[in-house]
Amino acid sequence: SWPQATAAAKVLDALAAAGGEGRFVGGCVRDALLGRGIRDIDIATNLAPEKVIAALAAASLKSVPTGIKHGTVTAIADHVGFEVTTLRHDVETDGRHATVAFTDDWQQDAARRDLTMNALFCDAAGNIHDYFGGLADLKAGHVRFVGDPAQRMDEDYLRILRFFRFHADYAAGDFDAAAIAAATQRRHELKRLSGERLRQETLKLLTARRGVAVWGEMLGRDFAGAYLPWATTQDRLVKVAALETRLKLAPDAVRRLAALTLTGSGNDIAETLKLSNADRDRLLSASDARPVFDVAGDAAVRRQVYALGNDRARDRILLDWEPGADDGQWHRAFDIVESWPRPAFPLAGRDLIKLGIAAGPELGAKLAELENWWVAGDFAGDAAACLAEAKRRLSKN
Ligand code: ATP
Ligand code: MG
Repeated sequence: SWPQATAAAKVLDALAAAGGEGRFVGGCVRDALLGRGIRDIDIATNLAPEKVIAALAAASLKSVPTGIKHGTVTAIADHVGFEVTTLRHDVETDGRHATVAFTDDWQQDAARRDLTMNALFCDAAGNIHDYFGGLADLKAGHVRFVGDPAQRMDEDYLRILRFFRFHADYAAGDFDAAAIAAATQRRHELKRLSGERLRQETLKLLTARRGVAVWGEMLGRDFAGAYLPWATTQDRLVKVAALETRLKLAPDAVRRLAALTLTGSGNDIAETLKLSNADRDRLLSASDARPVFDVAGDAAVRRQVYALGNDRARDRILLDWEPGADDGQWHRAFDIVESWPRPAFPLAGRDLIKLGIAAGPELGAKLAELENWWVAGDFAGDAAACLAEAKRRLSKN
């Protein structure tokens, strides 16, 4: 039933032809069972990594050894990539890393997965292999650990955040009592995790179905404070999420992060979560001390959209928006950001050089003055009009 099903079947066939077996596992099985769209298809196999590579080659499928040390090979079929990972069991864990060994025992591999709903396999014939009651938990909306939650969190503290993330996406009721108790005791271990791992789970949590409500629960229980002490306000997050729904925008993790960032703390959050440069710049533009977006008049709005670019302007409008009966001006500003093609200034340095201005800092300054003139004129001037203005200014000097 998946668009990638034919390609995925080729990979399972290749593994079977080599005397092994491949089964779908994790998120794709979980989400397919619920009838939700799936993100990517992961495959588990009882073949060792070298044999996986050989099996794929024998079936004329490309493979990339993306994480060979951990047993992961990416198989390419019909231009789609599938992560094929050899069954593993944990030999040693320290809360942040695991030392693993390969195994051919499906149940051992299921046992090292975090939640029962994430430990389901689906074989080539469509049979579900459920070693820990994940199917019943999934249907009942029980987000439950495989084994003892306290022990499973001690093996890997990231599971604390994953518990909240999956609760926000799949739970039908309250937190699992044993899990929330164990998580509460361990919340200060979160800051020992790498920024990359914290970022992945935090951004997914913020855009999960009930992510905003669950983040509120985490604030109340001092989880957010335990690793992101600069993200302890909830009001703007609630507002931005409501606006995204109202304006039919997809939930945006970085914008939501900006909504809960205290003014002046963007750099601390970007550092803690090891954000990419692009995401950090976006977070800073949205969360730093700055004037409120001015929605008084189309021309003022267009000037700001021109200065910020449409994407940052959209962020700022949503963050600054004051919802209410008379928020027509905010709506109008949002419409402009969505529909106005930000124009390009029609002149470049070479146009001024042709008029006899020497290349150098002065040329840059003159060009910037002309651009300001053009912006103040509501972007009306075309290249000829801008050139005429340039000449007029030259002859004055
Ligand atoms: P999605 O990709 O939709 O966010 P997912 O279930 O695929 O959900 P991933 O983070 O991609 O989540 O992990 C894939 C699978 O690997 C999980 O379903 C789970 O079985 C296992 N897994 C991932 N991270 C951990 C972890 N920290 N501890 C134990 N098992 C994990
Ligand atoms: Mg996944």
